[in-house]
Amino acid sequence: MASKFQAPRGTFDILPEAARARRRLERAAAEVFGRAGYEPIATPAFEDTDLFERGVGKSTDIVRKEMFTFEDKGGRSLTLRPEGTASVCRAYLEHGMQKLAQPVKLHYLGPFFRHERPQAGRYRQFHQLGVECIGTDSPLADAEVIMLLADLLGELGVPGVELRLGSLGSFEARRAYLEDLKAHLHAHEGDLSRDVRERIDINPLRAFDADDEGTRGVMASAPTIVERLEGEDAEHFAAVRALLDGAGVAYVIDPTLVRGLDYYTRTIFSFVCDRLGAQSEIGGGGRYDGLIEQLGGAPTPAVGFAAGIERILLALDEEVAGEGRDAFVAVTEPDQRQRAMALAVQLRRAGLSAELDLAGRSLKSQLKHANRIGARRVLILEADGSAQLREMDSGEQRAVDPGNLVDEMTGGEA
Ligand code: AMP
Repeated sequence: MASKFQAPRGTFDILPEAARARRRLERAAAEVFGRAGYEPIATPAFEDTDLFERGVGKSTDIVRKEMFTFEDKGGRSLTLRPEGTASVCRAYLEHGMQKLAQPVKLHYLGPFFRHERPQAGRYRQFHQLGVECIGTDSPLADAEVIMLLADLLGELGVPGVELRLGSLGSFEARRAYLEDLKAHLHAHEGDLSRDVRERIDINPLRAFDADDEGTRGVMASAPTIVERLEGEDAEHFAAVRALLDGAGVAYVIDPTLVRGLDYYTRTIFSFVCDRLGAQSEIGGGGRYDGLIEQLGGAPTPAVGFAAGIERILLALDEEVAGEGRDAFVAVTEPDQRQRAMALAVQLRRAGLSAELDLAGRSLKSQLKHANRIGARRVLILEADGSAQLREMDSGEQRAVDPGNLVDEMTGGEA
């Protein structure tokens, strides 16, 4: 009988097949980030609500409507973390990491929670991997974190990725620009969506993200900050671009790029993937030079990104589904099972993934099962001691030397 319980809306179970693909991804990320000297960090799944209100920003969608907030038994307001940067910065301050050699380079991975309307690629509990480089304002750090995500996506073989790059300038430059942007929006109030109109003075940048036609029309002629960058902001942005150019990283400048969190300054970037439909952003981030001060620390420049693990997996769809086993050991007669088990163990010790039938199936259903678990090759042990090797892709089958099965399997691997 089916259970009356289901995973809550916007959440999902990670079943073994999917867990394997995830583990591969997580290992690749730890490997790519580790090679660049980024160390792992883990923070709690919930924090004081105030951390996110200050760190993410009260005017953001996340804080206004997407947080899972609750009171604990002591009456404290706690919130399931909607993102990772504020928590990592809190930990940086709490553990005195400003006394270490700077920058402090960290990476993390784990579940995050946002009360959003669920759809493909958008969940209420999702997983992010992220990187933070805290304690330097050098454009080298911006370029390095961008390249870490580019390299990870490249190494995983994520298809159809585009890097979009923008800059918001320093806080001061942004403040002056925001006044001009608000003036532009007020001048065209009648054409804006209600949501945008109501937030002109709270968060005018979000108007660049709107998808209604009226607002889009108004934004087509809006001033952009990228075209107005000057002085050190302009130099910083030019330096980041030159570093990416020098490293052969392709990008497009997107003057309308904005991000859903308040804390960004200067560089912002976004990796989008054309295989993902409406939720096309795989990951993004930028520089957040004001955040640590906002959380009560000394002014500390920093840059980082977060990428959605489910989005990466969705973009990789075929590769994920194509996993499976190196080998399945089948028997024609039940008395061959002990031999099958010994052989499967030997294959595993040789580093292959190998399974055998544990359920007393007929040969026909063993082959069916091998197909179901994605085995690439099946070894069939015959009652007379001989063996056949079947390639599951082509269906081609040939006799192999039964005394040499492990070599046959390991040597034949591409
Ligand atoms: P953000 O923290 O908003 O900058 O998001 C960083 C990345 O996390 C996005 O590019 C997505 O890949 C992923 N992400 C954000 N929100 C969700 C969500 N509700 N469900 C799944 N992935 C998400």
